[in-house]
Amino acid sequence: MSARILVVDDIEANVRLLEAKLSAEYYEVLTAYDGPTALAMAAAEQPDIVLLDVMMPGMDGFQVCRRLKDDPETRHVPVVLVTALDGRADRIAGLEAGADEFLTKPIDDVMLFARVRSLTRLKTVIDELRVREASGRRIGVIAGAGSRLGGTGGRVLIVDDHERQAQRISAELSIEHRPVIESEPEKALLTARGPVDLVIVNVTARSFDGLRFCAQLRSDEATRHLPILAIVDFDERPRLMKALDIGVNDLLSKPIDPQELSARARTQIRRKRYTDYLRDNLDHSLELAVTDQLTGLHNRRYMSGQLEALVKRAAHGGEPVATLLIDIDHFKKINDGYGHDVGDEVLREFAVRLASNVRAVDLPCRYGGEEFVVVMPGTRIEDAERIAERIRLHVAGSPFRVAHGTELLTATISIGVAATIGPEDTPDTLLKRADEGLYEAKSSGRNRVISRAA
Ligand code: GH3
Ligand code: MG
Ligand code: MG
Repeated sequence: MSARILVVDDIEANVRLLEAKLSAEYYEVLTAYDGPTALAMAAAEQPDIVLLDVMMPGMDGFQVCRRLKDDPETRHVPVVLVTALDGRADRIAGLEAGADEFLTKPIDDVMLFARVRSLTRLKTVIDELRVREASGRRIGVIAGAGSRLGGTGGRVLIVDDHERQAQRISAELSIEHRPVIESEPEKALLTARGPVDLVIVNVTARSFDGLRFCAQLRSDEATRHLPILAIVDFDERPRLMKALDIGVNDLLSKPIDPQELSARARTQIRRKRYTDYLRDNLDHSLELAVTDQLTGLHNRRYMSGQLEALVKRAAHGGEPVATLLIDIDHFKKINDGYGHDVGDEVLREFAVRLASNVRAVDLPCRYGGEEFVVVMPGTRIEDAERIAERIRLHVAGSPFRVAHGTELLTATISIGVAATIGPEDTPDTLLKRADEGLYEAKSSGRNRVISRAA
């Protein structure tokens, strides 16, 4: 998987070295030698990862990182801070500034590519979600981000058989979060399936295989998206590399530094909430995007897409498709006489009647206001006419029960019918003919069905 990486360092030799290493692995490399240039490039070029040196004159790496994370245009881009070898204070300041990862100088190739690979994976997911969220926002169905995107108040599952260590972690985290400890992996797997924001796993545990536990979390649909913070021994390199391979999100070295622990936990929880938020909104927006809120029928946008496909198929020698355009007669009088709420009730009740009077393959939709469309695949105009007549009779023949069942109200509908006739047909010509039929039905007295063969 290739990615575009922005390398930022004030020392040219450092930039060149990283550029050479990354290019050799087919990453595309952008470079900047100071903070302001880095910010401008990040906004303009939208890299997949920023590798950022901490020590720079003028604007240092922390400031750059904070600015990147404050800007909605660059917030989602993972930032790897490059710190001095014994950079504990740097790491904590970096986490506070919102950094996603760290590398220490001199940069170890294995760690470099492990970090870059795992962040690239994450970035791909986030990008995908962002694109869909953006299209959701364009069609106006996504509300702005709530306050629940913070990094505190998280439910943290600590999986560790080392009692004292687990207690220390729990005590530190309970300042901001709600930690629970589980020393047996079987029980922990069950707990992880519940509401959890972060799992901290001791992969050096004695009584169970911590790596296996992480792999189990990753393979279970219910826990696949959970962030994992693995407690490792930095001297045990093979195990550490294995943990990264399995897909743990972050590493914490023993002995555990409380400040680093809480900063890393906060970062992971914030990231989890961000991806959850995007994912939730995605599902919600997809549903909202195709459904009419008042009646629960499909909306006009959805209908248009389906009709387009069906008409195209009909034009290429497929089955004919018919449409009914239905308008409630004198609906304004219902609103004026009984109130808008009763009008809404009539629309809802009508939608139910409509949906229960067409076949399962037909597509009843709210076209807008008190107008409805039924798209009927594989239907000739004579059959569509018969169905339309049946719907008309059903509506006119039994009154609507409104105002909590206290009133009975009679409504009628007019229907225009059209079906595809040839390869020149488009959704527009089809709906236009149905509309002409409807117009004629209205002008000739309402409560009737008129079809337009051509
Ligand atoms: P016609 O027989 O010619 O169709 O007369 P009409 O009164 O039904 O048609 P007109 O288009 O003049 O009025 C439609 C009314 O439907 C006007 C509008 O306020 C009302 N309406 C549109 N959407 C809704 C809705 O969601 N709820 C309610 N209660 N009324 C709606
Ligand atoms: Mg009407
Ligand atoms: Mg109307």
